[in-house]
Amino acid sequence: MSNSILNNEASDNPSVSGQGGYAEIIIPLALPKNYTWAIPEHLEDTVKPGCRVEVNLGKNKKYAGIVKQLLSEKPEFFEPKDILNIIDVEPVVFEQQMKLWEWIASYYMCSEGEVMAAALPAHFKLSSETILVYNEEYGDDFSTLDHDEYLVAEALLIKKELKLSEVQELLDSSHVYPLINRLINKKVCFVWEALKQTYSPKKETYVLLNTDYDNEDKLSELLNNWTRAPKQLELLLSYIHLMKTSGEVIKSELLKKSGASDAQLKGLVEKKILWTEKRTIDRLQYLPREVQIDFRLTESQESALQQIRDQMRSKQVCLLYGITSSGKTNIYIKLIEDLIRQGKQVLYMLPEIALTSQIIRRLQKHFGGYIGIYHSRFSQNERVEIWNKVKNGELRVVLGARSSVFLPFSDLGLVICDEEHDTSYKQQDPAPRYNGRDAAIYFAGLFNNAKVILGSGTPSIESYYNATTGKYGLVELMQRYGELRLPLITIIDTKKIVHKDRNKIMLSPSLVEAVNEVIGRNRQVILFQNRRGYSPYQVCSTCGWIPQCKYCDVSLTFHKLTNKLVCHYCGTTYPPVLTCAACGNHTFMQRNFGTERIEEQLQETFPDAKVARMDIDTVRGKNAHDVLIQQFEQKRIDILVGTQMVVKGLDFDNVDLVGILDADGLLHFADFRVNERAFQLMEQVSGRAGRKEETGKVLVQTSQPAHPVLQFVQQHDYKGMFRVELEKRKQFSYPPFSRIIHLSFRHKMKDIVERAAREFADALRNRYEAWLVGPAEPVVGRIRNQYLMELLVKLPRDTKTIVQCKKDLLEQMAILHQHKSFRSVTVVPDVDAV
Ligand code: ADP
Ligand code: ZN
Ligand code: ZN
Repeated sequence: MSNSILNNEASDNPSVSGQGGYAEIIIPLALPKNYTWAIPEHLEDTVKPGCRVEVNLGKNKKYAGIVKQLLSEKPEFFEPKDILNIIDVEPVVFEQQMKLWEWIASYYMCSEGEVMAAALPAHFKLSSETILVYNEEYGDDFSTLDHDEYLVAEALLIKKELKLSEVQELLDSSHVYPLINRLINKKVCFVWEALKQTYSPKKETYVLLNTDYDNEDKLSELLNNWTRAPKQLELLLSYIHLMKTSGEVIKSELLKKSGASDAQLKGLVEKKILWTEKRTIDRLQYLPREVQIDFRLTESQESALQQIRDQMRSKQVCLLYGITSSGKTNIYIKLIEDLIRQGKQVLYMLPEIALTSQIIRRLQKHFGGYIGIYHSRFSQNERVEIWNKVKNGELRVVLGARSSVFLPFSDLGLVICDEEHDTSYKQQDPAPRYNGRDAAIYFAGLFNNAKVILGSGTPSIESYYNATTGKYGLVELMQRYGELRLPLITIIDTKKIVHKDRNKIMLSPSLVEAVNEVIGRNRQVILFQNRRGYSPYQVCSTCGWIPQCKYCDVSLTFHKLTNKLVCHYCGTTYPPVLTCAACGNHTFMQRNFGTERIEEQLQETFPDAKVARMDIDTVRGKNAHDVLIQQFEQKRIDILVGTQMVVKGLDFDNVDLVGILDADGLLHFADFRVNERAFQLMEQVSGRAGRKEETGKVLVQTSQPAHPVLQFVQQHDYKGMFRVELEKRKQFSYPPFSRIIHLSFRHKMKDIVERAAREFADALRNRYEAWLVGPAEPVVGRIRNQYLMELLVKLPRDTKTIVQCKKDLLEQMAILHQHKSFRSVTVVPDVDAV
């Protein structure tokens, strides 16, 4: 026997490793880099970039990975294993997708595998579900097992097989690997690996007419001479009717419509009049592929459209700053029409929550079967179908949330990113923590001449800054459609309200009066209460004064854990305030009332009104959100109280009054973007008021009526807010004047996480001293029993520095994890955190 055969572990493999070359493969894990596998000779011609292959990692882990590139050289330092199998003949992703993955991984500091996991619909991610199989030879003497081992062994004895996920449920723990390892070592069970493809196209049984009866004469002859089996005749008549009205007849539908039985249908099949056939069907509803534009742009809209077209000749990205109800959507529709006529594809992105049936219906009306919808409420099967139809070019327009940027467009011409300021474009957890808007801009750049429109009534400071500096084009649309005026905003000073129990004041007398007036006229009210933010703030219960930072215009945030007040602009901490600086009193309360309590109080105050609530808790189900919106549209609700959800992308005709219940809650928020966010939210929610004919009214309740943001809101003065805010950002080097990387450290021991964060920061100090903020304990110092620390890095906007810093941070993370006591500290980098 020759040496080479002895060394070849895969002796049942006919080829010698590497004869077919090598491949860099992305597998859906957080690995520091992609690994290389060898292509066995018999797969040489089939392994292509973009295709999935089955590979082994470690002893018995199997993954479906995607081939990133073919390599001719063997890696220098290790012996690659063979690819086991090829899963796709045709690539599932294009070169552009993999470039996007690579960019996201490097920009947002994660692995390409993590991006892959987020990008592909679940059905493409083959599940290597580890199954444990009971070892019959072990018997049932479990006396040597500990408690948890015993539980699992017992379950295995009864069920014979258990999935890893079932073991996890059984033990209520995710740390089952060591235990399973022990059970395997004790030979209680062994591991069974199953790699299976889970996508199966939906099949339907169709009913067809025998071709003998295709002509009218033959058919009437048959019907006229029918003698026995009247039920079968009825069924046949139903069939003919259905065929004439809908073209194709599905068996289940026919039986339902006719009330006939399976046996009666069988009778007709036996007589060779009808026959049945199983076919794979599209899960997508069929709509005609046509473009229908049934409106004309107004003069100002037409001019904005022209400007966009002009700008797009020289700029890749153009910002459309158009106030609410100015008709931005109609402008997008015209642009989409252009692109469809050119045979190109369009990606239309919206924040998840704004993807309501309202906007879907509106676009389907214009683009019918050209348009596809891609978002998390859709089933995995539907997503695979959209994926394939985007890939083969059948779908020209996709309306989707941030993850739709991962779809395999073949000929992308335009990306529309509506409500571009919305923070939900940024993925928070898990990695990749990418911003869908920014990823889309990069992605569009990979196509020849593809353009991006960012649209908003309240642009993000970053985008508006880019537009004013000339990096992006800028088009403004300052007129609401139909001569609609902007709503009139009145500020209610809650300090002036006399009430026995100030803690309960959510509805000021002026607000109650206004609500009564509006519902008395049979019009509708929206009340907005931002429940986000667990961070309570202190308010003087006598005069409403809120402690502020000495150096910044922000309210201090109360940290429960440390019992301190903290400024999140400059980091200064203060002891809790015991005496009110305005009135000298000593009683403070913590303000934090939620929508649920408000709903209750509304019902009490307006017993005859129909009150409904819209927040995360009330829209859990698949359609709950749409149902609430429809009920509101149909005027079956008088007062709708809700969180930010009521703000997004909705267009109601009968809302005369919008109430912002607690503007303070928006203004105290612990973030350098607090003023920008507060303005955006209030301006957007105000936009819900007075869509048609009448001027809407907005009431804002606050204890800080002089707050500059409220002044800008009252004047609808976005640019004023922008100027002031930009000045502050410059002074404190916040974006857009810097790039921020937010690092979060997590561990179950408080002292360990504190030391880890400090040592991490200290190691960076000699290089980055001037740009570090922290480490500090965040507002919520502990989540799910993990203590947190955070460190902010503010980097100058210079690509070389940023790239170097990311490298240093990753290296420092690796060093930290080599330290014995910090091994289990989680470090999470978040680039461009929002
Ligand atoms: P935005 O997205 O800027 O808030 P929309 O596009 O939703 O504004 O327009 C607000 C309302 O005005 C919608 O009901 C829309 O149908 C209507 N509208 C806007 N422009 C036109 C137009 N040119 N013709 C007919 N209706 C229009
Ligand atoms: Zn006071
Ligand atoms: Zn401060």
